[in-house]
Amino acid sequence: FSEDVAGKVVLITGASSGIGEHLAYEYAKRGACLVLAARRERSLREVADLCMELGSLDAIVVGADVSKVEDCQRIVDATISHFGRLDHLVNNAGIVGVSAVEDAEDITKMRPVMDINFWGSVYTTRFAIPHLRNTQGRIVVMSSSAAWLPAPRETIYNASKAAMLSFFDTLRVELGSDIKITIVTPGLIESEFIKGKVLTKEGEMKVDQELRDVQVNVIPVGTVGGTAKSIVNSVLRGDRYVTVPA
Ligand code: NDP
Repeated sequence: FSEDVAGKVVLITGASSGIGEHLAYEYAKRGACLVLAARRERSLREVADLCMELGSLDAIVVGADVSKVEDCQRIVDATISHFGRLDHLVNNAGIVGVSAVEDAEDITKMRPVMDINFWGSVYTTRFAIPHLRNTQGRIVVMSSSAAWLPAPRETIYNASKAAMLSFFDTLRVELGSDIKITIVTPGLIESEFIKGKVLTKEGEMKVDQELRDVQVNVIPVGTVGGTAKSIVNSVLRGDRYVTVPA
C-alpha cells in the first residue's frame, strides 16, 4: 500500500525489536504518528525516541502482553485517548516456541504461541475495528511463509500463522471495502526471533539453544532472506498480499 501516511495514526504491536521496530522507523520517516506496543517498555521508549528523530509527529508507548484481552483493549484505548483516531493497525507481535508434539509432556504448554500470535491479533483487531471504520483504515497482518511450509517442532507456530491467514482473508470479506487488509508472509528474516532469543520471566532476553538450533535447521541454504530493515519497504509498497521470500 503506497498510500500517504503523513499525519496518520499507526498502532504497531511487537514494536520493541525486529520487523515491528523497523516498520515503526519507516512509518516515522513518512511522518506518521505512532503507538508502539510490546512487553519491553524500555526498548519501546528507545524506538519511540528514534521515531521522533526520524520524522514522526508524535510517538507513544504502551507496555502490554497481547495474549491478554484486557491489554489489547488498553492498547487501543490509549491510542484513542491520546490521538482521537486510528488509521493503521499492524498486528506484528509474535513468538516461535518449539516443541515436538509427541514429546510434549503437558500439551497445554504449547498454547502461548497461539494465544500471542493468533488470539493477540484477533483481540486487538476486534477493539480497533470501530475506529478503523471511522477512518477507512487498514490492518496489516504479519503472518509467515511458515503457514505453508511444514517445519518439524514448529507445528503450533505454523498453525498460528495459517490461522492468521485464514482469519484475516475471511475478515476482509466480512468487513467489506471500508477497512483494507494487508497480509504479509515473510520468509526467514534475521531478527531476535531467528537468533533464538526469548524473554525470560525476569525480563531479560536470553538465547534458547533448542529454539536457535531449530531455526538454523529450517534455514534451507544456510542464509536468511534478509533483515528486518530490508523487508519493511516491501511491506509498505504492498496492498492485499505481500510475500517476502526467504
Ligand atoms: P522479534 O522477536 O524481533 O519481534 C517480536 C516482537 O513481538 C517483539 O517486539 C516482542 O516484544 C513482541 N512480542 C512477543 N510476545 C509478545 C506479547 N506477548 N505481547 C506483546 N508483544 C509481544 O521477531 P520478528 O521481528 O522476526 O517477528 C515479528 C513478527 O514477524 C512475528 O509475528 C513473526 O512471527 C513474524 N515473522 C518473522 C519471521 C522471521 O523470520 N523473523 C518470518 C515470518 C514471520 P516484547 O518481547 O517486548 O514483548
